[in-house]
Amino acid sequence: MAAGSAIQIPTRLPLLLTHESVLLPGSTMRTSVDSPRNMQLVRSRLLKGTSLRSTIIGVIPNTSDPTSDCDDLPNLHRIGTAALAVQVVGSNWPKPHYTLLVTGLCRFQILQLLKERPYPIAEVQQLDRLEQFTNGHKSEEELGELSEQFYKYAVQLVEMLDMSVPAVAKLRRLLDNLPREALPDILTSIIRTTNQEKLQVVAIRPNRRIAHGSITEDEEEEEDHDDVVMLEKKIRTSSMSEQALKVCLKEIKRLKKMPQSMPEYALTRNYLELMVELPWNKSTKDRLEIRAARIVLDNDHYAMEKLKKRVLEYLAVRQLKNNLKGPILCFVGPPGVGKTSVGRSIAKTLGREFHRIALGGVCDQSDIRGHRRTYVGSMPGRIINGLKTVGVNNPVFLLDEVDKLAKSLQGDPAAALLEVLDPEQNHSFTDHYLNVAFDLSQVLFIATANTTATIPPALLDRMEVIQVPGYTQEEKIEIAHRHLIPKQLELHGLTPQQIQIPQVTTLGIITRYTREAGVRALDRKLGAICRAVAVKVAEGQHKEAKPDRAEVGEGEDCKEHITEDAKPESISDTADLSLPPEMPILIDFHALKDILGPPMYDMEVSERLNQPGVAIGLAWTPLGGEIMFVEASRMDGEGQLTLTGQLGDVMKESAHLAISWLRSNAKRYQLTNASGSFDLLDNTDIHLHFPAGAVTKDGPSAGVTIVTCLASLFSGRLVCSDVAMTGEITLRGLVLPVGGIKDKVLAAHRAGLKRIILPQRNEKDLEEIAAHVRQDLTFVLAAGLDDVLNAAFDGGFAVKASLEHFNSKL
Ligand code: ADP
Repeated sequence: MAAGSAIQIPTRLPLLLTHESVLLPGSTMRTSVDSPRNMQLVRSRLLKGTSLRSTIIGVIPNTSDPTSDCDDLPNLHRIGTAALAVQVVGSNWPKPHYTLLVTGLCRFQILQLLKERPYPIAEVQQLDRLEQFTNGHKSEEELGELSEQFYKYAVQLVEMLDMSVPAVAKLRRLLDNLPREALPDILTSIIRTTNQEKLQVVAIRPNRRIAHGSITEDEEEEEDHDDVVMLEKKIRTSSMSEQALKVCLKEIKRLKKMPQSMPEYALTRNYLELMVELPWNKSTKDRLEIRAARIVLDNDHYAMEKLKKRVLEYLAVRQLKNNLKGPILCFVGPPGVGKTSVGRSIAKTLGREFHRIALGGVCDQSDIRGHRRTYVGSMPGRIINGLKTVGVNNPVFLLDEVDKLAKSLQGDPAAALLEVLDPEQNHSFTDHYLNVAFDLSQVLFIATANTTATIPPALLDRMEVIQVPGYTQEEKIEIAHRHLIPKQLELHGLTPQQIQIPQVTTLGIITRYTREAGVRALDRKLGAICRAVAVKVAEGQHKEAKPDRAEVGEGEDCKEHITEDAKPESISDTADLSLPPEMPILIDFHALKDILGPPMYDMEVSERLNQPGVAIGLAWTPLGGEIMFVEASRMDGEGQLTLTGQLGDVMKESAHLAISWLRSNAKRYQLTNASGSFDLLDNTDIHLHFPAGAVTKDGPSAGVTIVTCLASLFSGRLVCSDVAMTGEITLRGLVLPVGGIKDKVLAAHRAGLKRIILPQRNEKDLEEIAAHVRQDLTFVLAAGLDDVLNAAFDGGFAVKASLEHFNSKL
């Protein structure tokens, strides 16, 4: 039995018009041929002398009146069955005719009638298996299941018969070999059906309309054709490069010849549509006016003076030079400090489109450069996709998190990015999917990162790094009230007449509900508050025929709320649903607790420092500065040192250094172990722990903290509760400078600490710290560990040696 799926039919077929019977794929039919057209077809196509030329022909049911053959070609059914002529028998009685035996192979669809006489010839498209016609997985699955069921029943039935009868055995074999998808057609040809019903089965293509009527009248066919013609027109009129135009015209030529059922048809079409859509020559006009730019930057962002200044310089140079060549700006800083937001403002000042490309976790270079079109599901990379999205060729692209690019077997995305950013190369950037060059030289790239440490060096080389530090509490309050709160109110459809968030509440959120260098969590908490208030307001609006809101809002009630400190009215007190909430709803600490839950960071620093063996260090992480508790304990043992708390190797070295220094100075400081020996590790194990977090605390800057913590442990004295420290140590007790001072100081300030011990050589870094933060803090600049210990303990940390020295002088 011929299965349509295995056969490739020619793209041109002679058409045999049948009106007495309908041929289905997979079945065989005898038909009488007597019309002049069909006779002509048989003679010139099927007969070679008197023998049969085995040729594939198209069998098309003729739905018009069989007697009106001759001149005009009748209305043709658009879908027919390609068939193999198996036998031809001629006869002259009662009139000349042939009897043909044909076997159906597969369906086909007429694309275009090429010739009408002496017999019709058409350009056709093969429609393979029925499963291709079904639309979507469900019907495909259903069809599969039904055929499977039918097959099982048929096998069961046949097996009830006597298998020793050859015909039964043959039937059984036939069932086994039958392609399941041919079952519906074969069934249709076996069961008693009218021709009309068979016709409908032939024409079944569930996702398409069953077509009757003459070919030229079909709306669907024309539509597809029109689409392709339109596409070609768009290609010809688009402003794409010459190289691209050439490729596109070649592709459209292929598309025209391709059957629509081929998967490649859709691929090629998608490709061409993308090519037409890309902004080859479309750009926005830059409107750069430095004074206006300054205003935009200032309006959008509070503080960040250094960053704004540098951005303005960059823009000014661009304006004067009128080109983009030069380093790419890269904003480096903790999350939520406004890096993305500044990028957006730059686009705004230039009147350019803005598009953010998130690079975090990208490890495949095809993400940047696209997949070749030979892959199934191939698509362009993020750069080309971004251009398609913005629709112009000179947007501002923010390459977010360049420090989070990863490498993998699929190539190095950083290398692809280098090509994108290189002004010498990027005018002819070739995405693998497009396979033709696209000019990226007008795109303004800006990058962001949390740290420069993990940016690939070659990439870093192309960039000018601008550090964006974290904010102080005061700055955060200003940012919240100038920017975040108005933005959240607008987002939630609230007005200042409906909600009031005093500054002291904002400070409460900052200190007790967030611990971050930026303002992202703060922004989210404000969002949560607005949501809660929006519910109250909406409930109020719903319940009452409300009085004038503004009057209530600005009247006495409001004052009452604020002054009634003894029992402040919180959002929960106004929750009586029978009454509208009083306006404005004041967010005080009670309301905060109701909405955000109990404070998350309430543990007093002093509580943690109330026993010996704990000290506070300052760490720098890509997310900003952090205070870090270092805890130590000792126990009987054999001089082992245990370290826990996600430590890097450098930290382990710092710990060993600290212990060695303390052991060698034990006598000077009168430090002893539990049995009173100056050999601190004699019969003693030490455990050092760096709590809080899955953050790897690498870096040597914890040296001074470990020494202080151990000094506290062995001396039994408490470290002052308001002291934090940072600094690298040497074996001989010197304190060396470290990085990230500004972020660290801000973290200590956030945590409410007062005294900060820093390496003396870091003094110059203090200039970067805002005056009002400096005012709140005392800085101790330490040259050696003696200075550190003296500052860390109330009343200093006496050095025995010097006392002896002093005594001996007496
Ligand atoms: P980043 O890109 O550094 O992670 P975002 O730019 O996404 O941070 O900033 C987070 C939110 O904080 C944004 O809504 C942004 O507008 C706001 N924001 C951050 N810094 C400032 C600032 N200095 N002034 C006003 N809004 C700010």
